[in-house]
Amino acid sequence: MQRSIVLATVIGSGLFAIAVFAQQAGPPVGAAEKLADNLYRIPGAGGNSAVLVHANGVLLVDTKVEKQGQALLDSIKKVTNKPITHIVNTHTHFDHTGSNVDFPASVEIVTQENTKANMERMDAFKTDAGKVGLPDKTFKDKMTLLSGKDSVDLYYFGAAHTNGDAFVVFRDAKIMHAGDAFAGKRQPLLDVGNGGSGVAIGETFAKASAGIKGVERVITGHSDMMVWQDFVDYGEFNRLFLSHARASLAAGKTPEQAMNEFKLPEKFKGYNLTPGRGGPGGNFTTIYAELKK
Ligand SMILES: [Zn+2]
Repeated sequence: MQRSIVLATVIGSGLFAIAVFAQQAGPPVGAAEKLADNLYRIPGAGGNSAVLVHANGVLLVDTKVEKQGQALLDSIKKVTNKPITHIVNTHTHFDHTGSNVDFPASVEIVTQENTKANMERMDAFKTDAGKVGLPDKTFKDKMTLLSGKDSVDLYYFGAAHTNGDAFVVFRDAKIMHAGDAFAGKRQPLLDVGNGGSGVAIGETFAKASAGIKGVERVITGHSDMMVWQDFVDYGEFNRLFLSHARASLAAGKTPEQAMNEFKLPEKFKGYNLTPGRGGPGGNFTTIYAELKK
């Protein structure tokens, strides 16, 4: 009896960890949705993927949960016969990197350098086949892939959801993939185990908002398309969390009290503040722990 309770607890916390550190897999891989002349979004089975059809092939951003390679290819084949040449992973989580291993070694995998280090610690990439699915190329702050109207600019401005969140800008389309730094209009998941930070995220967004030019629309990690101003506002949303956390901590309030008393300006009306992830204290629990360090 006791053993089964312990086992249930272990399984329960394991499921909790999966739920916490990967957003839901959701429905299966969807059809490629056209965003611009040569750019598509593929929802489902984990995070949103982006597909850039360039002069010599296809650049794919994020590969969803595991075993979705064929479904992704099927979806891509409906819009182009060109081969996959590049994969960019916005960050380490398995709902964005899970099917990297399904693609041939000739595909160049590119991530921010901290994401490569995070991925190297994941069991999914510790295969007998060696380094299959791990990044071939990394960048620190900025790198451009391809050229001319195909140019894809990769940026890193600091910790947010993890310590390796790349912002992927499709220059010609004026569209950016923000990964799970901006998963949707809700409390961000702060994966402290992979260097995520509720203290840094607002500042990271401020730097990205100032440093990235010409973007009009944003592909979110797990939600619908947003406009650039939504991305800018999401930084403010996170800075409001941090300032309220500082004030509440100084006033001796618990994270749960901070969450209950948190009031947002009218423009954040559509945001989902349901705690859940950090328990009743929401992200205040995480931010408090960081502030107390
Ligand atoms: Zn994630």
